[in-house]
Amino acid sequence: MAARILLTDDEPYVLDVCRRILQDDYEVKIVNSGLEAIQVAQHEQFDVLLTDIKMPGIDGLETAQEVKKIQPDIVCITMTAFGTMEMAIKALRLGVDEFVIKPFSPEELTLVIERALEKEQLRQENIRLKSLMPLFEFNKSLMSTVDTHLLLEQVLGLAISETNATGAVLYMDNGEGYLSYLMHKGVDAEALKVIEANSKLLVAHVKDNSEQLTLHEEVPVEKAVLQEFGTKSAVITPLLGKENLLGILFLLKKTRPFTQSECNFLSVMTGQAATAYANAQLFEDLQRAYDELKTLDHMKSEFINIAAHELRTPLAILMGYASVLEEDAEGTTQQYLETILRNALRLRSLITALIDMSDLQSGQPHLAVSELDLVEMITQMALDISIIADKKAINLDVKFDQPMPVIYSDRQKVELIITNLLTNAIKFTRPNGKVLIEGWANEDKVQIAVSDTGVGIPEEEFPRIFKRFYQVENSLNREHEGIGLGLSIVQGLLEECGGTIAVESEVGKGSKFTFTLPISPPAPSADNPQP
Ligand code: ADP
Repeated sequence: MAARILLTDDEPYVLDVCRRILQDDYEVKIVNSGLEAIQVAQHEQFDVLLTDIKMPGIDGLETAQEVKKIQPDIVCITMTAFGTMEMAIKALRLGVDEFVIKPFSPEELTLVIERALEKEQLRQENIRLKSLMPLFEFNKSLMSTVDTHLLLEQVLGLAISETNATGAVLYMDNGEGYLSYLMHKGVDAEALKVIEANSKLLVAHVKDNSEQLTLHEEVPVEKAVLQEFGTKSAVITPLLGKENLLGILFLLKKTRPFTQSECNFLSVMTGQAATAYANAQLFEDLQRAYDELKTLDHMKSEFINIAAHELRTPLAILMGYASVLEEDAEGTTQQYLETILRNALRLRSLITALIDMSDLQSGQPHLAVSELDLVEMITQMALDISIIADKKAINLDVKFDQPMPVIYSDRQKVELIITNLLTNAIKFTRPNGKVLIEGWANEDKVQIAVSDTGVGIPEEEFPRIFKRFYQVENSLNREHEGIGLGLSIVQGLLEECGGTIAVESEVGKGSKFTFTLPISPPAPSADNPQP
């Protein structure tokens, strides 16, 4: 796009010559006086002001000064017949960027304009680069701030420091699409009241147009508003979210107008801030949902814990009386009582699993360490459990090829780990299948594997089977008993004992659960204090 030049001279002949020289390369607007130039600059944006110095009324230097107040980034070039050093110094001091001495050739004029525009471009570039640094730093800290209030405070702070503003006021969407005042900085209570009372229209304007709005003292209508605010210039920038307006940043300056690059900086900064704010809001929502879930989860665990404990006593009484009755009963009555007792036992094992689970979740992990002879322990356990295996005609085998070292661990916990794995292996193996428990030592730990020739587990389910209440079978067409707590208890207990567990399985062929236990007990820690 061609640069726009505002050309001012009281001599029509000069205006005409300059226009002819420039019109091919630039967009030129001609005015005959300084006053006219100032008025035009209030409504139209230009890149260059080319003005004669000696003009009736407002002279060229004053014109340049006034136009710069309205458009701080405009390049001012004066044309003068008085090429004295004194005049040059005065012009530069008043903000004139270049001057060309009359009479000049067409080449001389275009050269001066090109040079001045290049200089301005470099200056802008420089400002842009400089403003990238705080933006970069700001971005880093913004993206890591998840507290929305803190984030907006940072936005206000940076907006003020990078534009040398006197004060800032921030309006944010209150969640119902209505912008309301949220925070301010550098504005006293009295001024804030005035701003609050007068800013509604401006805020509405920015909201409707979703565009930055700048107010200058040189524009009469804007001056009245600025006077109300007790300031020289103001810039109002929207914080645009992906789909909606999140807020509006109101910046005031008493010393000088906001420059174009300051306004650009604000646009970029508020853009980043809006994204970070939306992310922080999302994070806060997530955090809230997570906290709610945690509370619900805690309530659920509490409920399970209380219910399981409360069920235990009446069940024990029922089982006690049922066994007494069974001893004396005969025939069908005895059969019925056997069924009652069998199902009561099932119920008791479910209740025990629930209690084990909530003990694991709540209480401080505590290990009652003693010397364990695993070979003896496992052989005895296999013998105990073989009653269930025999009922399904499952071959339950124990195999220790090498001598096993004694280990130091918590007997009750290790027994619970093995019982759960063996029960699962028998449960998920069809009649006439095989279950094997074997062990070996490996440096400072022992490894125990429970394998079966059962239904197997699809590989994609491996990570889920250790989760509480998870079962591979659909609850509506389940063939096997259980509530999905066994493996989660096993994993929790192993963590306490300093061990690990791994699973290998193939659907239709069988599964193998291998766990490790350290030979020496895990070192006491804050999480796992020893008595
Ligand atoms: P439960 O046995 O009470 O259902 P678990 O937590 O012990 O709960 O096991 C979770 C799920 O993992 C089981 O429902 C089953 O789908 C699967 N699973 C566990 N052990 C085996 C196994 N040996 N063979 C096949 N599937 C198993």
